[in-house]
Amino acid sequence: MSKVYYIESSQLNAFFNRVKEGYKVFSPAIKDKNAKEIDYYYRNINSDTSFVYNSYRTVEPLKSFFTSACEKVTDYFSPEKNITEVAGKAIIFGVKSCDIVGHKIQDFVFLEGVEVDSLYAARRENTILISSDFTDFKEVCHCLAWDILPHPTAGFDLNLSPLNEGYLVEAGSRKGEELIGQYKDYFIPAKEVQISARRTKRDNLIDRLKKHLLTQSLVPKDMVQKIVKEGYSFDTWQQFMLTCVECGGCNLICDTCHCFILADKKESHYQNKKIRVWDSCLYANYARVAGGANPLKTRAARLRNRFMKKFDFFVDNLGMPACCGCGRCIEVCPGKIDIREVLKDLAKKSNNQK
Ligand code: SF4
Ligand code: SF4
Ligand code: SF4
Repeated sequence: MSKVYYIESSQLNAFFNRVKEGYKVFSPAIKDKNAKEIDYYYRNINSDTSFVYNSYRTVEPLKSFFTSACEKVTDYFSPEKNITEVAGKAIIFGVKSCDIVGHKIQDFVFLEGVEVDSLYAARRENTILISSDFTDFKEVCHCLAWDILPHPTAGFDLNLSPLNEGYLVEAGSRKGEELIGQYKDYFIPAKEVQISARRTKRDNLIDRLKKHLLTQSLVPKDMVQKIVKEGYSFDTWQQFMLTCVECGGCNLICDTCHCFILADKKESHYQNKKIRVWDSCLYANYARVAGGANPLKTRAARLRNRFMKKFDFFVDNLGMPACCGCGRCIEVCPGKIDIREVLKDLAKKSNNQK
């Protein structure tokens, strides 16, 4: 484990105010304090806004900082421009462990493919991720079912864990260590008793989350790939798609979904610009090719594609499912299609066949 520090709450705002000088800082905010279940949204904090500690993940997925829902990508590239400078420097505070694990899929696609996406790479290099422990969870959260703990274990630059009147701070990368070194007046080395208190708090939350998951009777992680493959011809897909309105929300809000299309936008009589827009495999035209042929013509085939991609393709190719249990797709779906229930239905039908 890397070295752990302590920072008082009053000092954390001062620290953020200092680092804001060189970066755009994004921190969660609460939309409606009186809501039954609070939602956290990201905002850019400036000199008169203080940061909010989010108990669980934000509404927006982490991917929205690295690929926009719609952007003119050609604006970033020209012989006179340096892509690293154009991408801008950012600090994102309040990232949770589910998003950090889910983001491995984005890195795999945009950094480890045949071509590296240089805009994505520049943004990744220029961004500091300050993650934080979950202190609570939403009804839809099921990260632990995929063996993702509710506190980050890797993939962050700095991680904060609330403790008494302050936070324990752990550096998880060179960038994080440099930041602590640069602002060392704010941090004091943590005592063993504080680290042990953090362990107790983390264990308590894991116990609460385990009890929460027991009520959901989820399909065990090791079974998921098998039942998705066995269920290829089941009527589960037709049954669950009855309420789908093809809005694409489940894909667009998902931190592991990465499909996009490149479209042309007319800029002048002589010039087009390339626009990159997030795509969704639930859209009717997602797989349509020239001539009108469409291998994913029915909504059922498209829903099955989403599950095959997440729970078969990525398990084979990256050794992990393309799902981090954040539950965003469950919250966003106007058709009330719940990924947990689809998997449970496949498991039930798979068992009945034996
Ligand atoms: S194919 Fe579907 S499930 Fe897979 S990344 Fe694209 S939109 Fe997401
Ligand atoms: S499929 Fe749903 S639960 Fe899984 S990562 Fe995507 S949005 Fe989260
Ligand atoms: S969010 Fe629900 S209704 Fe919208 S495309 Fe996804 S499954 Fe269909």
